[in-house]
Order: sequence, then C-alpha cells, then structure tokens
Amino acid sequence: MKKVLVLTEVRDGQLRNVSLEALAAAQVLAEGGEIVAGVFGADAASHAQVLAQHGASTVYTADHQALVQYTPDAYAQALVQLIELASPDAIVLGHTAIGRDVAPRVAAKLGYGLVSDVTSLEAGPVFVRPIYAGKAFQQRKFVDGKIFITIRPNNIAIGTPDASKTAVVVPVDLEIKDLRTIVKEVVRKTSGKVDLSEAKVVISGGRGVKSAEGFQPLYDLAEVLGAAVGASRGACDADYCDYSMQIGQTGKVVTPDLYIACGISGAIQHLAGMSSSKVIVAINKDPEAPIFQVADYGIVGDLFEVLPLLTAEFKKVLV
Ligand code: FAD
Repeated sequence: MKKVLVLTEVRDGQLRNVSLEALAAAQVLAEGGEIVAGVFGADAASHAQVLAQHGASTVYTADHQALVQYTPDAYAQALVQLIELASPDAIVLGHTAIGRDVAPRVAAKLGYGLVSDVTSLEAGPVFVRPIYAGKAFQQRKFVDGKIFITIRPNNIAIGTPDASKTAVVVPVDLEIKDLRTIVKEVVRKTSGKVDLSEAKVVISGGRGVKSAEGFQPLYDLAEVLGAAVGASRGACDADYCDYSMQIGQTGKVVTPDLYIACGISGAIQHLAGMSSSKVIVAINKDPEAPIFQVADYGIVGDLFEVLPLLTAEFKKVLV
C-alpha cells in the first residue's frame, strides 16, 4: 500500500480532465493506500469536493499569488515543499506543458525516479509509454524508490465519482522566494473553444487547406461536432494558422476518440502527435498519401467538397 500525491491542474477556474485521469492512475499505484491531491493557485479549495469524489482523502491547497500562473521556479519550489509535507511514495501529474516541465525538475532535485508520458499502467507497477515518436510502446517496471509519473491526457479512463466521499482540506503555507521568472502578461492564442489536448474530436488541417480562409470548412464542421481544430506543421509554417494548433513531434500530442485529418500527407513527425487517436479519418486528394496507412477510414477527395457535405450530414443528426 502506497501513498500517492496527484498534482492537479486548473485552467480558467476548471479542473482539467487530465487531473481526474491522474487520480484514476493513482488508484492503481496506491494499491489500496492513500491518495492525496495538491491544488495550486487561486480558489484552490473549491475543487476539493470533486477531487474527493475521485478518490483524494486529503486536498492540499496553496492559494499563493506566485502560483496563479505557471512558472518553473515557483511551481518547483511549491511542489518540493508539498512533497516534504505529504511525504508520498509516488507523485502523478498530467503529461502536459506543466507536468512535462516541473516533474523532471523536481524528480532530479529530490533524486526520485520518473516515468513520463504513461499511456496505461497496472499494479506492479508496470507502465506503458510510447517510444520512437509513437512507433512502438515499451513497458517499464519500477522496482524500488520514490517515483514521479506523468500521464498522457485522454488515455487513462476517469473513475466513477463517489458522491458520498469527502476530503480533508489542508491549506498550505508555502515559502516561495528568489523567483527568476515573473509572468507579466498572458497573451492567449487559442484555436477555438475546445482545448486541443483534451478534445474528444479533433479536426486538423494541413498544407492542403491552402490558406488561412481554407480552415473555415474545418471550423464549420468543428462547430457541429463540438471539436477542436488542429494543424500540421506544414499549415503552421505556411502561416495558415497559429503554431499553438500544431500537432506532432514538435507540437501537441492528442489522443481523441475521433481525429479527422484534412489535406495532411501523414509525415512521421505528424503521426507522432495523433497516431494513438482511437478512430482516424483522412481526407486527401492523393490516394497514395501515407496518412491513409494509419487511417481507419479514408476519403479520397477534395477537402473543400467533402467537408461541407460532412457538415451538412452531421447537422441533420446532431443539430
Ligand atoms: P504536405 O506534406 O505538403 O501535404 C499536403 C497534403 O494535402 C498532400 O498529401 C496533398 O495531397 C493534400 N491536398 C492538397 N490539396 C488538397 C485538397 N484540396 N483536398 C484534400 N487534400 C489535399 N509536422 C507536423 O505536422 N508536426 C510536427 O510536430 C512536425 N515536427 C517536425 C519536426 C522535425 C524535426 C521535422 C524535420 C519536421 C517536422 N514536421 C512536423 C514536418 C513534417 O515532416 C511535414 O513536413 C509536415 O507534416 C507536412 O505537412 P502537411 O502534411 O500539411 O503538408
């Protein structure tokens, strides 16, 4: 039986799904032991109930001004102090921009192990994670010592909430000092209303969309499906869209239930960011395009003809 700490993430006042997935992963790691959660930033205690329903017996809250926006040094200092206080055997974070940054920093500082980008796990603990840009998966067993794991969003199923559960809320007084990074302003560049890395449906455009305006049919379909819109690096490099939309080896990794690739050739670097999607649909004019090798459904055709037809059909059943 182990004690597991989950460091949660809150965005725009909402707990991110990946934090609930991390709590589900913590259940496996704890093997019947205790699960505790940490929430950094403003209004942290408001999330305690949800965290309790998903298995946290204690919720440590840190309403510190320096933690409202992520900075590596403030979060690293805060996480070290939280670990000293909670004394867990394992720490679970999302494999997000924050988790990817802070987990290795603190693991190295404390001399803990780290298994990153975990897509599934079982008692042992045995972790499964992608290697070679998603071409293969490896199993890693952690034998001894304390450990950090980061879990890939959208891979580990969220547990059923238990409304009868409550948690002890422990406000933590942190000492955060000598910061080298201060966030003065946050300029948001978003691809739409739905968060790309947590979206259940992603529609992506490549160089085949031909212009910024060419993305409009993708947005129209996204509106009907409640999807997020992503892009290949080809589309970003051509200035058709913002780099925050890029999916792939050097962009975001997504694992939606449905991924619709429009005018994307299917370069290995793009596949690295989307090949774990549950169902892949490719729309491409070229029947030889490599994207069709990973697609579950392929539509050989002009995306400017196919997308409006799909949007019209989905509207009939969904709107
Ligand atoms: P293209 O390869 O030009 O493909 C365009 C496709 O659109 C073609 O298949 C064409 O048949 C089709 N098409 C054209 N018109 C239409 C139409 N009207 N209807 C339907 N289909 C049409 N790429 C990424 O995506 N993400 C990454 O993270 C990434 N990281 C990289 C890192 C490194 C180190 C390197 C070297 C490269 C990286 N790349 C990445 C780039 C990658 O190698 C490809 O160049 C890029 O993915 C190509 O983008 P694309 O498929 O949109 O463009």
